[in-house]
Amino acid sequence: MVVELISVGTELLLGNIVNTNAAYLSEKCAELGMSLYYEVTVGDNPERLLDAVTTACNRSDIVILTGGLGPTKDDLTKETVAKALNLSLVEDSHTRERIEKYFERSIYKVITNNNWKQAEIIEGCKVIDNDNGTAPGLIVETKEDKRVILLPGPPNEMIPMFEKDIFDYLNQIRPNVIFSKMVKISGMGESFVETQITDLIEAQSNPTIAPYAKCGEVHLRVTASAPTIEEAKKLVKPVVKELKERFKENVYTTDEAETLEYAVVKLLKKYDLTLATAESCTGGLFTGRIVNVSGASDVLKEGFITYSNKAKKKNLDVNKNTLKKYGAVSEQCAKEMAKGAAINTDSDVAVAITGIAGPDGGTDEKPVGLVYIGCFVNGKVTVKEFNFKGNRQKVRDNAVVYALDLLRRCILDNYK
Ligand code: ATP
Repeated sequence: MVVELISVGTELLLGNIVNTNAAYLSEKCAELGMSLYYEVTVGDNPERLLDAVTTACNRSDIVILTGGLGPTKDDLTKETVAKALNLSLVEDSHTRERIEKYFERSIYKVITNNNWKQAEIIEGCKVIDNDNGTAPGLIVETKEDKRVILLPGPPNEMIPMFEKDIFDYLNQIRPNVIFSKMVKISGMGESFVETQITDLIEAQSNPTIAPYAKCGEVHLRVTASAPTIEEAKKLVKPVVKELKERFKENVYTTDEAETLEYAVVKLLKKYDLTLATAESCTGGLFTGRIVNVSGASDVLKEGFITYSNKAKKKNLDVNKNTLKKYGAVSEQCAKEMAKGAAINTDSDVAVAITGIAGPDGGTDEKPVGLVYIGCFVNGKVTVKEFNFKGNRQKVRDNAVVYALDLLRRCILDNYK
């Protein structure tokens, strides 16, 4: 089944907003094992939209449109799709009632006339309730066996609607069922990961392996399509096993929902270890990631944000001569920060991060992006030096991910 995405909105063409809906839906189509051949962005212009919808219906089985379902004059998606399919718009009493109720609960008690436009639907379509807004989603199934799906533009309306109803709808109309499993790798770059599996990717047909690069992580989605779920699972299993064998301890989970911080907290709990943190350039981001995990209080004892040298000396007992001789961004300082955090809080393990996030503060000897991460485990401190690229946020985000990864590896080295 071939899917085509049409993102509607002049603001997308002007670059005012990033097309995150297309990124999200592309990933979901891959997860569903559907082929996405075309992705079109079109402004709020009825002629060009009509042209895009007609072309899409000619060459694809399923057309998903996002945006342009709102109450204002420039929201033309419904009208244009109806025209392209030669169908009329009719009022839907169920949606009208929902709009009334929505406004009763909203701070805007007055329903302006244009809001009723959203109660109009394309004749014969399935209506998908919008729990987070007023524009419902619509699914039109045509005589030619095409499916045209209209979704609202705001991601906070589109994504819940897709997850609640559209994903299952698409899953049901697929000739086969699909099953996928995610192999999550941390601490390795995407290109390196790909070179390790070029043979698998080149030979793939069913299952497929799709790599997704995240900050400091690479996720490999293995997707199989088969007449039954059992058969699909059977196809996925040996490929996941092969990936785990190739990437060994670099794989931190094969559970789709498990994040890196969750994997780290799970390991700390497993070995009954308590954690302290000492952060300089990341200013609490690392500790924040740990606290993302419900139940973090079982392991996290204390976190220090020691941005100044004075704070490093006062809270972590970093030696003033270390700071003088090597500077705050140094292997020696990271080592003393990690040790100080562990000892001063009586924790089993500690992580320290010190670096130059930029854009200022870099020198030839210590450029922007230079980060030292220290990890105190089992009485020993391991320090790693990193040279991250990118802006201040990227350097700090990378530092956090690589610190989580280092902690994970140090625990495995010492306790596994
Ligand atoms: P509304 O009722 O809010 O008008 P709508 O369905 O008509 O909803 P649009 O008017 O096209 O949707 O877009 C509303 C907002 O949704 C945009 O300003 C933007 O913030 C967000 N949005 C729309 N399309 C996308 C997209 N493709 N990716 C990310 N955000 C989007």
